[in-house]
Amino acid sequence: AITVSNLSKTFGKNRALDKVSLTVERGEMVALIGASGSGKSTLIRHIAGLETADNKGGRIDVLGDLCQDGGRLNPRLKRGRISVIFQQFNLVGRLSVMTNVLIGHLGRTPRWRGTLGVFNRDEKLKAHAALDRVGIPQVFAQRSSTLSGGQQQRAAIARTLVQEAEILIADEPISALDPSSARRVMDVLSSINSEDGITVVVSLHQVEYARRYCPRTIAMRDGAVVYDGPSTALSNEFLAELYGAASEELV
Ligand code: ATP
Ligand code: MG
Repeated sequence: AITVSNLSKTFGKNRALDKVSLTVERGEMVALIGASGSGKSTLIRHIAGLETADNKGGRIDVLGDLCQDGGRLNPRLKRGRISVIFQQFNLVGRLSVMTNVLIGHLGRTPRWRGTLGVFNRDEKLKAHAALDRVGIPQVFAQRSSTLSGGQQQRAAIARTLVQEAEILIADEPISALDPSSARRVMDVLSSINSEDGITVVVSLHQVEYARRYCPRTIAMRDGAVVYDGPSTALSNEFLAELYGAASEELV
């Protein structure tokens, strides 16, 4: 589980997170929504151990390990159990897709050979199986920079599988994609959640995907959680208010 208690983060005078508390149980698939600047990415970065909260700014536990408390990051944090995928730049463009997928080993094996590019048969099979699982086995040997946006996201998910991560946090993985690529990426997230039991937290701009794919939605406004419940119970009135005047096209 992920447990966030009273998390606050201030950048200068800007309160990016305001006493955020939430729990995500193992096996859940949860959407994180909110207008631009509401704090979604900041929250994700804290859960991933990439950012520390304010002094006395709350506590985060991930998979039973203390991640941070009172503005101090746990130095013994085992990051390999969480995988984070961003909107862009998840892959090293000049390296092959296979190599990028096998970078997932780095998160798992403490004394990995460290020589990117030289892989044994087992490792290659593992990468291939993971790419097959996300529906793009044919790009195995391709340079990553030649992939479409949706293929890049799916390759990043394949790396999560190789890493054997227990939690995947994806920060707007589909906001740069056309609807059909977006659906394919969401289908893959949904399948690794239901079939591999990976806990998925995904921030989304398009609420329709939250409704369709995620049983539960957490909504943020001005750094605070303003809704946490079934995605089906999100009303259009609430969403219009959440996104302000520009909301019509989103709901
Ligand atoms: P978007 O939907 O546009 O990605 P978001 O919900 O992810 O928005 P955040 O990126 O978490 O929002 O930003 C929350 C607030 O914190 C914003 O006001 C932002 O300007 C501020 N912020 C985030 N990171 C930093 C930083 N490194 N330095 C200063 N301010 C920051
Ligand atoms: Mg963001």
